[in-house]
Amino acid sequence: MRALAAVAIALSSCAEAVRTADSRAAEVYRRHEGRDGAFRRLATPRPGEWLYEFDEPGQTLEEYRAANPASAPVRTIRLRPFGSWPRAADPVLAAVSEHLEAFWGLRAGRAAALDAPPAWRRKSRPEQWDAARVLKGFPIESGSSEVAVLGATADDLGAGDLSFVFGLASAAGRAGVFSIARFGTPGLGPAEDPRLLRRALAVSSHETGHVLGLAHCVFYACAMNGSNTLEEADARPLPLCPECASKAAASALFLPAARLERLQAFYARVGLAAEAAAVRRIREARPAGIPKAGPSGP
Ligand SMILES: [Zn+2]
Ligand SMILES: [Zn+2]
Repeated sequence: MRALAAVAIALSSCAEAVRTADSRAAEVYRRHEGRDGAFRRLATPRPGEWLYEFDEPGQTLEEYRAANPASAPVRTIRLRPFGSWPRAADPVLAAVSEHLEAFWGLRAGRAAALDAPPAWRRKSRPEQWDAARVLKGFPIESGSSEVAVLGATADDLGAGDLSFVFGLASAAGRAGVFSIARFGTPGLGPAEDPRLLRRALAVSSHETGHVLGLAHCVFYACAMNGSNTLEEADARPLPLCPECASKAAASALFLPAARLERLQAFYARVGLAAEAAAVRRIREARPAGIPKAGPSGP
């Protein structure tokens, strides 16, 4: 989503940097060769797309591990509504919670609504919350490093120089935030408005990925791709690519089979048939010999 990556490494545009990026991508594709048929490699970005606007290097599994020592992994996500959150959108939040559990192998649940102070609004656009300010203001109630907070609002969000953001997250702050303001009409079911639920699932799992230390993905079409527009976000798949799944699965190069099975059943139940089919293809492409379940998340 339109958010700052938790880990940002600026690449210069010199030829040496381009060669380095190419060799990293080649290494990632080689790792998944012969079993990545269920995934689409990213093409050269076009004007207006996220990677055209932001020259990000991505993050390999090794780089993720180096940046995120496994000493204090997040195990629980608390979903906290703030600002306006209409009752009609409650089923969306319940679905987000269930999806995060299946997607990342975490515990997730709704926490009490947060009474956000007016100081968290943007000075230049007071109708928007300042997403970075919101992240700083989230209290980590338990004091436990295993708990992270994901704020949810139906108000619009902004950040920095960007006119709006769908979400923002900070791994160091163990906090993320997302907005459904631009996603459709809360309260309409999947039959009337199938877009809102899918968009909410996409942005919440993406921002949670940043909370867990994943940077934007530049290798495959993937849940961790940055998105500059709703059109670009809608074109992204919900599932993780094999490289990002390997970060989320401790020791395996794909998500553990039980989590994929749970995700497929969830997508089918909430009416996201294309997503259920995508996860089925991933399950079929899953190589033999990969352990059925990693020791633990994230
Ligand atoms: Zn992002
Ligand atoms: Zn990825």
